[in-house]
Amino acid sequence: MRWQTALPTRNNLRQSMRNRLATQPLFDLSKPGRRGTRLPKCDVPVQDLEQLLPAWAQATEPPGLPEVTEPEVVRHFTNLSTLNMSVDTHFYPLGSCTMKYNPKRNERLAGTPGIVNLHPYQPEDTIQGMLQLLYELQEMLAEISGLPAVSLQPAAGAHGELTALMVAGAHFRESGELRTKVLTPDSSHGTNPASARMAGFESVMIKSSESGFVDMDDLRSKLDEQVAVFMITNPNTLGIFDHQVSEISDLVHKSGGLIYLDGANMNAILGVTRPGDFGADMMHFNPHKTFSGPHGGGGPGAGPICVNEALGAYLPVPVVASDGEHYRLVYDRPRSIGQVRSFFGNVGVLVRAYCYILSHGPDGLRRVSENAVLNANYLLSRVRHILPVPHGSRCMHEFVATASDLKKKSGVTAMDLGKRLLDYGFHAPTVYFPLTVPECLMIEPTETESKETLDAFAEALFRITEEPAELLHETPHSTYTSRPDEVTAARKPQLKWSGPSGTDKKDH
Ligand SMILES: *Cc1c(COP(=O)(O)O)cnc(C)c1O
Repeated sequence: MRWQTALPTRNNLRQSMRNRLATQPLFDLSKPGRRGTRLPKCDVPVQDLEQLLPAWAQATEPPGLPEVTEPEVVRHFTNLSTLNMSVDTHFYPLGSCTMKYNPKRNERLAGTPGIVNLHPYQPEDTIQGMLQLLYELQEMLAEISGLPAVSLQPAAGAHGELTALMVAGAHFRESGELRTKVLTPDSSHGTNPASARMAGFESVMIKSSESGFVDMDDLRSKLDEQVAVFMITNPNTLGIFDHQVSEISDLVHKSGGLIYLDGANMNAILGVTRPGDFGADMMHFNPHKTFSGPHGGGGPGAGPICVNEALGAYLPVPVVASDGEHYRLVYDRPRSIGQVRSFFGNVGVLVRAYCYILSHGPDGLRRVSENAVLNANYLLSRVRHILPVPHGSRCMHEFVATASDLKKKSGVTAMDLGKRLLDYGFHAPTVYFPLTVPECLMIEPTETESKETLDAFAEALFRITEEPAELLHETPHSTYTSRPDEVTAARKPQLKWSGPSGTDKKDH
């Protein structure tokens, strides 16, 4: 009776129809002559293309566009959109990335015609409203960070790191100091050492102590006259606030270096403390994390940076300035490192951040962080009975649990748990980051989730750890692909549908 077990259930059938419709490239649906629009007969004299365009400007063949009907296009993209997990459909506890709910109000405001129909080449006096918005956002970020000079230009957090390190480089070049090294803790995000290298520095790793903080002895032994910048994430990627941060910044400043704060974890400290007050000279914000901008398939994000007064002179051009009445873009800044992104940055994301900050106000932003920390601690208190949380009995906005014991006992890995959570209707937490905790799951609930959701997540995690290892190694069962070879999937994406879910394990 094999056919019977192979018979799809109604739900599977529905899902696999959707998969087939959505994952067939639009080009495969193409049939010559199919149209989504019909144009009326031409009512002006027809002219030869040769008379209008020189031969070299004319294509020899028509463009290879799919010929499809309007319903085919609409179904294709609508079905495609249902294959993904998103914050609008599922709980998404991705540590470090802050996948909080994206309020629809921000989308509505960012979509108003006065904003979407602007063009960056318009004369300055016709975009005063946008410039005012950007100017005010600069002021808000300066206030939140405690660092007065702001550039909205960088296109992502990592780009902000690179830009700020270029600013630091310009500062040291001008003061005639040869500083070649950037220090990063071993728990830092991979973008930190990568940005250091891209900005022309040598990156040197600092060990973490047993308790997950910066190992002060290691820092002292590596801190010398060649160190330009110490990059710190605080709260760090273990979700704990490094209380040594003032001592660290004193040490680094004494030896002539600068402190860079990776602001990806600002969601924990909005309105509670300010990087500029605990010693940072430079930092970036991730508006797509902290200020609820959508992450949208890897982009676009933004990575505005804030720096201290002295470093302000080196920020990219243009910056937005105001005399209180009129707003203008200032390009004439002789010590600037130049432009790092076309026009003024990813304005769409910045508009959403502006709406979010204004909607909450100073007290509201503080409550955002307080609730993010409260939610994380509630979930921590439930998860620690299922999986050990090695660093700290309390956390900030996220925490890192480990499946090490489980792996020793039954062979079940952090990857297995993450994959199985998808079957239970939860996006997987971040796994295997930070690198300092083996078999780790980094969990960030954010302030936008209810107690019921957090309880359901803890319950699912508990049930999964009771499931047999053989089953868990084979999961997920409910998704279009089960376990792709992740490197090949990223490098050589195969975009065609080749069978219902799970039939081909090598699918990617
Ligand atoms: C997300 C993140 C970054 C990089 O930010 P992007 O906007 O993704 O470029 C850097 N550091 C940490 C800790 C992060 O979580």
